Amino acid sequence: QTIGQAFDFAAARWPDQLAVVSRHQSIRLTYAELRQQVDRYAAAFVALGLEPGERIGIWSHNCAEWLITQYASAKAGLILVNINPAYRRAEVDYALKKVGCRALVVMPRHSSSDYIEILESLAPELADCAPGELACKALPDLEMIIRLGDERTPGMLNFDDLPARAGPADAARVEELAGLLQADDPINIQFTSGTTGRPKGATLSHHNILNNGLFVGEGMGLTADDRIAVPVPLYHCFGMVMGNLGALTHGAAVVYPAPSFEPTATLEAAAAERCTALYGVPTMFIAEMGVPDFADYDLSSLRTGIMAGSPCPQAVMQRVIDEMHMQDVIICYGMTETSPVSCQTEMDDEMQARVATVGRVLPHLEIKIVDIDGRVVPRGEPGEYCTRGYSVMLGYWDDAERSAEAIDSARWMHTGDLAVMDEAGYCRIVGRLKDMVIRGGENIYPREIEEYLYRHPAVADVQVVGVPDARYGEELCAWVQLAAGETLDEAALRAFCDGEIAHYKIPRYIRFVEGFPLTVTGKVQKYRMREQMISELG
Ligand code: ATP
Ligand code: MG
Repeated sequence: QTIGQAFDFAAARWPDQLAVVSRHQSIRLTYAELRQQVDRYAAAFVALGLEPGERIGIWSHNCAEWLITQYASAKAGLILVNINPAYRRAEVDYALKKVGCRALVVMPRHSSSDYIEILESLAPELADCAPGELACKALPDLEMIIRLGDERTPGMLNFDDLPARAGPADAARVEELAGLLQADDPINIQFTSGTTGRPKGATLSHHNILNNGLFVGEGMGLTADDRIAVPVPLYHCFGMVMGNLGALTHGAAVVYPAPSFEPTATLEAAAAERCTALYGVPTMFIAEMGVPDFADYDLSSLRTGIMAGSPCPQAVMQRVIDEMHMQDVIICYGMTETSPVSCQTEMDDEMQARVATVGRVLPHLEIKIVDIDGRVVPRGEPGEYCTRGYSVMLGYWDDAERSAEAIDSARWMHTGDLAVMDEAGYCRIVGRLKDMVIRGGENIYPREIEEYLYRHPAVADVQVVGVPDARYGEELCAWVQLAAGETLDEAALRAFCDGEIAHYKIPRYIRFVEGFPLTVTGKVQKYRMREQMISELG
């Protein structure tokens, strides 16, 4: 199936079910209403002259137009390019050029950032050209900028005006395309989070991401009566695939609490919309449970949800189950390159497996854990997690070299993550290859130390990295964020470790911090922590 076909199927099967609620825009659409919008915009994209296989970028925070663009562009056969709202001049320039976007949908502004201004600075000719005739030396492929919002900007099209451009012939062409587009065609380019360096553009097919949405939704037992609160960004696969496509494949609704993550708005949305599922990376759940009047929100409608994206501390999982009513919450593990989910826990797994592992491989996928020479390691031993099957991306866009590094000739995707698989097939992610610390010849997995330090009641969040050391090769450094109103010093934290964990695992450096360097998806960028420590330590 293509995404367009799956969309039409959902709209025909669940026309009166709620499809999307965008709280900050006061927009609520049923599947039938959403279909009307999607069909109008698919025809409008055809009317603009955009051809199947061409790229259309979207650079926006969460909003209903994001969802409409996702499905309308899929129906028109356009490859949607998700652009991170945190990107600034140099990054958006890189992304647009890298994949050669012909059109770009953009939100005008958010908090203190003016997106139009950034584009105008990249393309100074904008104001002088008629919409659709942008010919810009700096961005040679970009011909149309489609802005969201009420205002009109010279040289740009307005999203709201587009449907008026489409005629019956354009609608007929969309119908025709439904029979021509292939499920294995590329339909989406997503940049990885940039947790370990420069983001890479993973190219994904209909088949890749639609199947992933379907299986992840199955894992949560989603039905057309579910409402999923999606505070995670749509530009990332967590929101776009697990959120939007997970809902679409089950007739469920997505609820966007705010343009970007806000703990209070998320709790309000979950309570007011009687959401049954809630998504987040661990730091989001920590922030929500840390809202001062957290206990006053009625979260009794919540049943399930997903914690994913980075290591999920056991203690946080346990609190989510106990305090947020999410007794069926699952953990997913995956990466942009694998559409994204590869492993997930199941609602009826034993509690220990549900809080301490990332579960087992999704149906019809293969995984193996290998050593540096590519040999499968015995169960219980750490190695690199590799996966093969329908979820593996087509490749990195226009980057044969990095694609070949990631996907070997037998189509195994090498994730760069270190995992341990037990006898029953449950996996634990013990860290990233790049984050593993080798101190005096001992392999140390920072994750293990983080898990231990989390147990201290004054510790709200903690991250451990390795920093270069003349004597031991590397030394451990912990950044600790304290819980509100708590105090703790280095000596006390060391005393907490003494005799409990091996001496070489006790961090040599301990820093108390207010926060960590984060990607816009809320993931901790350890490489930036390392850089900062290196410059501090000289
Ligand atoms: P980049 O590849 O640009 O450095 P990234 O790898 O963080 O960034 P994503 O594709 O968004 O970009 O994230 C995938 C990574 O997130 C995985 O490779 C893994 O390291 C981590 N991850 C995802 N889910 C989990 C999980 N449940 N437990 C532990 N780690 C996870
Ligand atoms: Mg990655």
